[in-house]
Amino acid sequence: MTDTTTAPQTTDLDAARLAFRDELVDAGLLVPAGEPGLFGRNGTFDDVVDAVDRYITLGFAALAPERIRFAPVIARSAFERTDYVASFPQLTGAIHTFTGSDRDHAALLAARAAGEDWDRFLHPGETMLVSAVCHPLYDHLAGQQVDGRVFDVVGYTFRHEPSDDPMRLQSFRMHEFVHVGGEDDARTFRNTWSERQAAMLAALGLDVTRVPANDPFFGRAGKFLAANQLTDELKIEVTVPIYPGLSDGTAIASANSAGDHFGAPFGITTADGTVAHTSCIAFGMERITLALFRTFGTSLADWPVSTLDQLSLR
Ligand code: AMP
Ligand code: ZN
Repeated sequence: MTDTTTAPQTTDLDAARLAFRDELVDAGLLVPAGEPGLFGRNGTFDDVVDAVDRYITLGFAALAPERIRFAPVIARSAFERTDYVASFPQLTGAIHTFTGSDRDHAALLAARAAGEDWDRFLHPGETMLVSAVCHPLYDHLAGQQVDGRVFDVVGYTFRHEPSDDPMRLQSFRMHEFVHVGGEDDARTFRNTWSERQAAMLAALGLDVTRVPANDPFFGRAGKFLAANQLTDELKIEVTVPIYPGLSDGTAIASANSAGDHFGAPFGITTADGTVAHTSCIAFGMERITLALFRTFGTSLADWPVSTLDQLSLR
């Protein structure tokens, strides 16, 4: 049923999102790439992403994290173990490829020449697109004993959530610090570094708020999971007002207590043999960059000196 009291507001919000997207495209910062939420970026945009990335790395240097990088593609068997498809089937992305014969290929080409869909000739490969950059890490640690190690992971993720809001992309970069170890340590890490995360983003001049948050878990069962996440404060987000008066702030970073959600299925244990707990401090690289452009303008020349200095962009 349409809620007539909120309908006009939604329209204003839609207009604000489109205006922000157009502003970014007109400034050359984003380059439309044919689908909602899919963009190229120019050098200035990526200079800021790189600067923010260096800033984050420096801010977390005291943890002496182990740097590790993975492809934006994950083995289906590993993806399966993350349980992501149970909670967020609507966000997943699978990789399909052609495995047929010459005859099948001819049929594909004929369909394509006739202007028909041809991807029905493709079959699921052995891989999925990465949904969170920490997922391949758990597979890497599977079956191991891990006691209080911190990892620094950066990479591209895919989430199928097409939108006209330039803050909501289908593919974006995450920089995560992941703690793997005992239950208490994982919680302490999450709480301590979540505060640090928000303080660092505030020091850039962003109008940040820390809020307990919940994820868009799928379906009826998902409502229960989302409520649970909220009441237990399993996820804390750092939000920034992007469309003030029209919507709540947008999350530019998050801090998650995953409990034994990953340790158990991947068989990761601590020294005393109990299942390892994990926590993630995640930065959304494009969202932080976009929040900076939204707050200070699309030209770096207009940005406060203090922000440019923090990012060593001057
Ligand atoms: P999450 O694992 O959902 O907490 O995501 C980590 C961070 O990635 C969020 O705090 C956002 O900054 C960023 N992020 C999540 N979804 C999107 C999206 N669709 N587009 C751009 N950034 C996103
Ligand atoms: Zn994570």
